[in-house]
Amino acid sequence: MLGLMQDQPLLISSLIEFAERHHGDGEIVSRRVEGDIHRYSWADVARRSRQVANALDSENLLFSDRVATLAWNGYRHLELYYGVSGSGRVLHTINPRLHPEQIAWIANHAEDQILCFDLSFLPLVQAVHAKCATVKKWIALCDADKLPADSGIPGLVSYEAWIGGQSTDYAWPSFDENSASSMCYTSGTTGNPKAALYSHRSTILHAYAAALPDVMGLSARDSVLPVVPMFHVNAWGIPYSAALTGAKVVFPGPALDGKSVYELIEAEKVTYAAGVPTVWQMLLTHMKPAGLRFSTLKRTVIGGSACPPAMIHAFQQDYGVEVLHAWGMTEMSPLGTLCTLKNKHLEMSAEAQDAIRLKQGRAIFGVDMKIVDSDGKELPWDGKAYGDLLVKGPWIVKEYFKAEGGDPLVPDAQGRGWFPTGDVATIDADGFLQITDRSKDVIKSGGEWISSIDIENIAVAHPAIAMAACIGVFHPKWDERPVVAVVKRPGAEVTREELIKFYEGKTAKWQIPDDVIFVEAIPIGATGKILKTKLREQLKGYKLPGL
Ligand code: ADP
Repeated sequence: MLGLMQDQPLLISSLIEFAERHHGDGEIVSRRVEGDIHRYSWADVARRSRQVANALDSENLLFSDRVATLAWNGYRHLELYYGVSGSGRVLHTINPRLHPEQIAWIANHAEDQILCFDLSFLPLVQAVHAKCATVKKWIALCDADKLPADSGIPGLVSYEAWIGGQSTDYAWPSFDENSASSMCYTSGTTGNPKAALYSHRSTILHAYAAALPDVMGLSARDSVLPVVPMFHVNAWGIPYSAALTGAKVVFPGPALDGKSVYELIEAEKVTYAAGVPTVWQMLLTHMKPAGLRFSTLKRTVIGGSACPPAMIHAFQQDYGVEVLHAWGMTEMSPLGTLCTLKNKHLEMSAEAQDAIRLKQGRAIFGVDMKIVDSDGKELPWDGKAYGDLLVKGPWIVKEYFKAEGGDPLVPDAQGRGWFPTGDVATIDADGFLQITDRSKDVIKSGGEWISSIDIENIAVAHPAIAMAACIGVFHPKWDERPVVAVVKRPGAEVTREELIKFYEGKTAKWQIPDDVIFVEAIPIGATGKILKTKLREQLKGYKLPGL
């Protein structure tokens, strides 16, 4: 017997219809590439995304055709999120920080038909357009009068001219909720990038889950600042969850430096912000010497890489901002776990609570997780046993676009497929996950494993250290030993010996790095994470002291 509820597919267009009807005057504020502030409402987003849909129809784009973006977080990008997916096409957000060769490669692989870009990426587009064989239209996200006259890009049109003449009426089509809605390529630190292809169903389920109180806890009372880019994993789903809850959205555009982000938070009364640790580091570095405070910011989601305890402490204790440490990945839409306390933790001391917040948190309903040993045997949830982390759920990939890389899933005894995350983790008795490391970054010393994250966290807790990256270096007896590359804070001084001494008592003796390497900068990848592959290359000829 089937249930007798209405059969209505979960479609992205329903989010924007809802936001228009129920939160029509809710504000969307964007810092534009031009530098000024643009503001309008959810009703305007809905109206203009219908114009986008009509414009796509006029280009004869078929169902599931890909429309690419090279764009910062802003209102036009948001309109494309809804207009492209809502009309049945697939939004392909491209990370502009990738190498131009890689951008051309993924645009061809995705078979993008149209590519919309912010004018700040004009030089990039000029470099790649001739190599993008499938792109038949290039659209600059600007007003008609801002369109560069001699761009060298054939048929270039401005976004405003492209949608301007289109009707604001459009009947969003209904189709199978499992249809593809958007796609995002992983950074491809090894081999060619692979794409996660999201569906309408996975996106809506993820948007519901993300809004839950123990996840992002978004509401119509929030003013949310996604510093996480819309070009990488849909800005952690915020463009969708914000429509679902009617939150005010504040887009930072290209201005991601500490001063600009701080000013926007204050001016737009931001209550909630989301970003990777490197961006928050810039914010805190700007605020501290000037003695600045937040007047409205209450919570911040930090993820993408491990949030150092020193940062959690600064937000929580110095600024009164709750830190929600999150873990996820491109293949998971991206949310997997979020760290919020349980009722029994409320009586604990601030220090004990901070120790919990250091973990990446509890699984969201919709995400099953387990840790396994090298034979695939499940390990206990005791907070000590560490193993490969596997996940499954309705917003986690079952395979990559065009079956690139073959079948990634690992079957269990019941034949259910689990996605191997490539992370090594522990899970404690309360279900809190803690990422030990990426399996390829973990340092294997004498048969024991050392977490590079732990070594980095201790280094950045030293007042003279701004940034740290730990890698394993060949050792004839122990296989590998940890060394830590560090960047000093401007004007600060610390010696190698002082830093090695600083580790004493903070970690087991055999885990203390064998050497400290002072560097000017640590290579950062396209998604704001430390690029250990590059660092290893840079330190290629390096030998441990005494060897
Ligand atoms: P990529 O860098 O492959 O594009 P993602 O943005 O999908 O990847 O990153 C996913 C990976 O980032 C995870 O598998 C994990 O290693 C790391 N990661 C994400 N969040 C955290 C976190 N809070 N703590 C530690 N590592 C994290």
